[in-house]
Amino acid sequence: MIYHIEYDIAAVFITLFMAYYIIFKKGVRRHANRVYLSMLVFNFLAEISDIFGSLANNQPEYTTRYIQDFWNYLYLSSHNVLAYVFVIYVFYLIGYEKTKRTALVLLAIPVGIDMLLLFSNPFHRQIFYYDEQGHYLHGKLFFIIYAVALSYMIYAIYMTIRHRKGISKKRASALLFFLMITFIPVVVQIIFPQYLLTLFFETLGLMGILFTIESKEDTVSPTTGILNRYALQAALDRNMINKSCYLLLVKIPNLNYYNKMIGFENMNGILRRISKWMDETYAPHTCYDCGRGHFAVLCEQIAKTDIQVIRSKTMERFERAWGKGEFSLVFPVQFGVVNIGEDVKTVENAFMLIDRPFEGKSSSDLNVSKAVHDYERGVLIERLIDKALHNKSFKVYYQPIWSTEAGRINSAEALCRLIDDEYGMISPDEFIPIAERNGTILNIGQFVFEEVCRFYSEGHLRSLGIDYVEVNLSVVQCMAKNLKELFDGILETYSVSAECINLEITESATAENQKVLFDTIEILEDSGFTFSLDDYGTGYSNITYMYDMPFSIIKIDKSILWKAMDPETGEGQRNAMIYLENTIRMLKDMNYAVLVEGVETVEQKRFLESLGCDYLQGFYFSKPVPKDGFMDYLKKSAK
Ligand code: C2E
Ligand code: MG
Ligand code: MG
Repeated sequence: MIYHIEYDIAAVFITLFMAYYIIFKKGVRRHANRVYLSMLVFNFLAEISDIFGSLANNQPEYTTRYIQDFWNYLYLSSHNVLAYVFVIYVFYLIGYEKTKRTALVLLAIPVGIDMLLLFSNPFHRQIFYYDEQGHYLHGKLFFIIYAVALSYMIYAIYMTIRHRKGISKKRASALLFFLMITFIPVVVQIIFPQYLLTLFFETLGLMGILFTIESKEDTVSPTTGILNRYALQAALDRNMINKSCYLLLVKIPNLNYYNKMIGFENMNGILRRISKWMDETYAPHTCYDCGRGHFAVLCEQIAKTDIQVIRSKTMERFERAWGKGEFSLVFPVQFGVVNIGEDVKTVENAFMLIDRPFEGKSSSDLNVSKAVHDYERGVLIERLIDKALHNKSFKVYYQPIWSTEAGRINSAEALCRLIDDEYGMISPDEFIPIAERNGTILNIGQFVFEEVCRFYSEGHLRSLGIDYVEVNLSVVQCMAKNLKELFDGILETYSVSAECINLEITESATAENQKVLFDTIEILEDSGFTFSLDDYGTGYSNITYMYDMPFSIIKIDKSILWKAMDPETGEGQRNAMIYLENTIRMLKDMNYAVLVEGVETVEQKRFLESLGCDYLQGFYFSKPVPKDGFMDYLKKSAK
């Protein structure tokens, strides 16, 4: 039989190209990367020896038995070791490298037996032998070589499928692709044994792995050229198991702002300089660009004093400017030390710390334990919100609003309450922003609106002199497409008119999402709703949009009243007073009705009345109370 070596020759070139790609391009310094490279080496040895061995086997008369033997032994041994190395590669990808070292040694036993059998072949000739003409033939025990390789492959498939969650879908499919593609030539070669396809297909499989798992684009940041967050994720996946390393965080705040200020290209140039400096300064530790000006340095073995050295070097360097010429800028920086395994126990939490926006104004240290605590608290609140929605245990409280003109309570603000059996009362200031972020505010908002309509439909509110109820509307609700239909439907169900509801929108929200808000307000206005602007004076005050929006009441935030009437007088207090007086005058001149929140004392009430405020709200009248308490309050105050 004449062996065809063309496929092997093609495979040699592909393998050389892949080795070049891995070695000479700036690649990932991961263990798995090195194991991949050794797979390429064994693959290359197998290809070369297969070519020369096949030539020798085709025409034994042109060579000596020693040379023929040499190539055949080299081929069989390198090809066998390749299967074992592939299993190691799978181990590294799923993060087993240190903890399962004994497993790797045990797994080497089959290949060890293989090698013993192979190298003792000259004595027993049970693996392969030559006929009288010197042609190569398989011996009786050759099947053991196949069986060992096959068991490694099956084991690798098993491990890949078992750990598919830990190694991402893309990686798992690349590994399975490699394994599947190595089976194709086995079938073909049973029918056409002269075509040496095995290594060609294995090389194709390795190429698949190169471009999916090993590809540097996947793991190097295109902006800065250093490793990116995916590379860090892979490294953390492994180190979460080792639990003996530190992650140093270096954050530059407000990248978007600088991008806008000096342009993307210039800012990218500065980021490249910063990354280069970090990469060199922190070596031998690896520095990762996690995006948005956030960098992380993984220190697998480091003393606490060395961490302090890195910290001071970083802080010192950031005191000086980066970049050159007109784009020479000084950036604040935040430095944080995370003890993997102690401060954070999951990769998800580590990334939470990395991604958290810069807090604080100038260069500072990241408060890791506070950040972790806040995050965990956030997760807890999310859970409590879901629980309360599921159990329908949210409550609506009502806080009376005093009309100075009528000299009585004429409306109320509906305020949502989350009271958990285990954790007690959770402040809306804490749960509303979380609900806005995860979208549950839509359900909460609907619940509050429906509760208010149900209460109003009972008729007591109107008979006790409540003309309308104020309901807080989140900007997230305004972004929902079906808000009008939803509200109209609820009003209809309870036979309540839209005039009985006044929707409150916060000022900060209006500044951010003006257009969406404007459209929603217009649509809701058609249904007959009226609107208040809440927390005036705290958000990003932008008077221009206020002109065009149909607000009937402007609610001045309590913080302004409190500062203006602060018993501790000073310049700040005086300025707040000037601001309060002039704001009220200005708003009244603009024909808005003015409400001041946070009225706690009779002096505050009298003073605001003297300024001509239309409505007052605060603990002086009543704290927010449940429905029944509110009705009792109204009955009492009517007497
Ligand atoms: P807000 O809409 O500005 O509501 C007024 C807040 O000020 C209420 O806090 C109220 O209890 C408090 N307050 C009123 N007068 C006084 C006073 O004299 N002294 C003091 N110390 N506080 C006073 P609360 O109920 O904790 O609500 C906080 C914020 O949570 C609300 O501020 C509102 O923005 C939001 N929120 C509450 N319920 C809802 C809701 O159903 N939907 C939406 N989207 N947001 C809500
Ligand atoms: Mg409000
Ligand atoms: Mg308010």
